[in-house]
Amino acid sequence: MRGAVMYQAGDVRIESVPDPTIQEPTDALIRVTRACICGSDLWPYQSLKESDGARLMGHEAIGVVEEVGRDVRTIKVGDLVVMPFAFSDGTCMFCEEGLQTECIHGGFFGNPDVPGAQSEAVRVPQADGTLYVLPVGEDDALIPSLLTLSDVMGTGHHAAHVARVGLGASVAVVGDGAVGLCGVIAAKRLGAEQIIIMGRHEDRIALARDFGATEVVSERGEEAVERVKELSRGLGVDAVLECVGLDQSMETAIEIARPGGAVGRVGVPQHEAMPAAQTSFFNNITIGGGPAPVRAYIDELLPDILEGRIEPGRVFDRTVDLDGVPDGYRAMNDRESIKVLVKP
Ligand SMILES: [Zn+2]
Repeated sequence: MRGAVMYQAGDVRIESVPDPTIQEPTDALIRVTRACICGSDLWPYQSLKESDGARLMGHEAIGVVEEVGRDVRTIKVGDLVVMPFAFSDGTCMFCEEGLQTECIHGGFFGNPDVPGAQSEAVRVPQADGTLYVLPVGEDDALIPSLLTLSDVMGTGHHAAHVARVGLGASVAVVGDGAVGLCGVIAAKRLGAEQIIIMGRHEDRIALARDFGATEVVSERGEEAVERVKELSRGLGVDAVLECVGLDQSMETAIEIARPGGAVGRVGVPQHEAMPAAQTSFFNNITIGGGPAPVRAYIDELLPDILEGRIEPGRVFDRTVDLDGVPDGYRAMNDRESIKVLVKP
């Protein structure tokens, strides 16, 4: 089959790769009908070293089940399924707590050990715990929004959930990428009254406003902190969604939370140490988050998509076939595109 292989920073090639096969009795194989490129794929796109090992990329997909291992019970051949970016058994203590990204038998797609989904087919470990059967056809108009359940919508929701967004909350979203935009949707959905989007790209800000953002802060660093405080009675906001992962964005996130507020972080940290230790301590800031257990959130988010209350699929502003994937990486990296949908 064909798939998108990243060799090192800036080097993504479409190549013939081995067809996936059932390796464990709990595996399923799916034919990928839709995949996408993730903002987190841009980190290796900017920094992967040749010595890190080439990898078949992609951790977000919708597909049709083509084959299941002999121990798979609930997933059947022919099912249309969404594949969360992490696989999980669905039965261990962490899965039972709704924290599938910490599953004892879990792991992530798109690395040298578990090939990814920017390809024609993918092997899904722990199929029963991982895959979620969708009640629509494979070309349904809702597919782009349903595809976001594999990562960005669930991740934005995780940031809001961890930051304790509730009715009447004031919220700031750091980052105007697809996850930040989904964070705006999530904050509104959970009843936030004020939603400040922090970003500077016009197309993204316009979409954020459509999704429910009430104010925009385009400054950075100290100026951004001052602007957010002006907008929040000089105190800072109740909840901050950190959707970038840089040292400076995390520092800003901590500085704009009000005393006793919370920061939900879902941007993969590109730094070793947490900034703003003094501020976070003396302001009693709760900091939480990590890889979002998106599998846990599908039950809650799916009805809102099916019934048209949220449209996270609007974050896709470009569609490519497999041959268009390398240029899709470039376009997202150059901020020409918010998020690229892939039709293998
Ligand atoms: Zn588990």
